Amino acid sequence: MNIGRGKKNFSLPLLFLLFPLSSWVFPLPDIHYIRYIRYIRYIRCRTSLTPMTTQETLFSKIIRKEIPADIVYEDDLALAFRDINPQAPVHILVIPKQPIAKLADAESEHHALMGHLLLTVKRVAEQLRLSNGYRVVINSGSDGGQTVDHLHLHILGGRQMKWPPG
Ligand code: 5GP
Repeated sequence: MNIGRGKKNFSLPLLFLLFPLSSWVFPLPDIHYIRYIRYIRYIRCRTSLTPMTTQETLFSKIIRKEIPADIVYEDDLALAFRDINPQAPVHILVIPKQPIAKLADAESEHHALMGHLLLTVKRVAEQLRLSNGYRVVINSGSDGGQTVDHLHLHILGGRQMKWPPG
């Protein structure tokens, strides 16, 4: 005997009924939250000594020497400094002075700059005597694990690296 046969399944129409109701009730805190975040950002921009742009990050401030960093190399196009939270005995970040948010945003106009960044990695690695080798990492976007929206190349050295990375 099939007890369920003939019974109507009301869960789907119920969902359709509840959805428009919930969309009236629940978005309110979201809207307030988004407005609050926008307001905080606006206040931060207005009170900052230097105007924030959409591309403004901590690294822009390091480039302008507004916040301290242990700089190991600098030229007209690039800056290299020690990572504040090192993942290896030597952990350097090489960044372009031009604020490109991530590798995925690089265009053909950045061709020479990209080459320059790689050669800067090589130069810094030699300068820091990483003669046994090193790893270069670029995290791009959220799935890539990028946390600072200014293109940067990690140089990791001074220990045996493992593979695969996490
Ligand atoms: P991501 O996770 O975006 O690939 O790497 C960002 C890196 O920047 C992290 O390794 C983090 O430790 C480093 N970092 C974040 N803020 C600062 C800072 O203010 N100074 C320095 N030197 N490194 C930072």
